[in-house]
Amino acid sequence: MRTTLLAIAALAAFPISRADAFEMRTQTWSTNTVTLRVNPDVQATLPDHFDTLLDAEAKVNGNASALRFDLVIDNDVISLNNNGESELNFTNDSTLLCGSLGCTWIISDATHILEADVFLDLDYAWTLDDVKTNSIAYGGPARPLINTAMHEMLHTLGAKHENDAINIMGNAWNVVSTNGNNTEVAVSEDTTAGLVTVNGPRATTIRDVSVMHWKLDAAGTGTSAYSKHMRSQLFDLAGNELPKILDANDEPIYFASAGDRIQVEMTLENRGSNTEVTGLGVFWSSNSTISTLDTLLFSSNATLGVNTPFEHKVTVTVPAGTVGTTYYVGAIIDRLGAVSESNEINNAAYIAAIELQ
Ligand SMILES: [Zn+2]
Repeated sequence: MRTTLLAIAALAAFPISRADAFEMRTQTWSTNTVTLRVNPDVQATLPDHFDTLLDAEAKVNGNASALRFDLVIDNDVISLNNNGESELNFTNDSTLLCGSLGCTWIISDATHILEADVFLDLDYAWTLDDVKTNSIAYGGPARPLINTAMHEMLHTLGAKHENDAINIMGNAWNVVSTNGNNTEVAVSEDTTAGLVTVNGPRATTIRDVSVMHWKLDAAGTGTSAYSKHMRSQLFDLAGNELPKILDANDEPIYFASAGDRIQVEMTLENRGSNTEVTGLGVFWSSNSTISTLDTLLFSSNATLGVNTPFEHKVTVTVPAGTVGTTYYVGAIIDRLGAVSESNEINNAAYIAAIELQ
């Protein structure tokens, strides 16, 4: 346990060890507020899509930089590249969509971004809620619109694709803190650090720590160079992944016995303005909703610098239980609720199911 404490604390000594992790445009906006005009038809004919865009706007504005984002209704229905207005529209024009489900066009000169236009796929059956099993990340039918919308909105602020850290500027749909049946997305630590570096910090201190059961899988390659993400894992003390199967929703179910010493992996993020020292707890639960009422298996303070997501492993002992029954191991950051955060929903996540043998 002491070794683990030191391992966490070591992060504070190297808060800028990967200062180049984020990828930002060299051109910046000449103002501190980027206004994007939504085609009025979106609000009129796709009200649930529009509400999701408003949620995405609020979350993008949770970033810790001075750069703000403002979504307004356009005064016309025309959404074009290079027409002097930054706009957002849903379309089935594959050119505007860059052959993808969403695409952002940036018009810039040598020093400044002059216009940004976001196009999202009109025909795609987006997931419009935060229900886990409706998301493609958990075997559901489609990508959540909020994740893709935030990815594109962050492009308009100057963020580029990211391939060497778990990041919403990579594969956006699985950058979520999931607890029980609900997913929660936010501007990634890496992206917020990039926005702060380029645009300066927000005058008001932002505080937001989080835990996810997703991690960087592999750096993407090619022109897109998206980061790819995979589930956090459970290991034995030798570093071998515990035996597992996948359920119908691609969720891992691991096998372990009471008394086993196992390593529980998680990704911790600090999306705020300053380093946070806060309580981390690992819990054992009879269901996938992890709360402080569950059985505490481990606790320590975690020191979380800003800039780089922290892949962390905690060693715990599997408690006694009923053989053949499925339990959940999960984590809570800021477990004592001491940090007053802009987002308190992303502090708890189950890591994986464990069936006792
Ligand atoms: Zn993109």
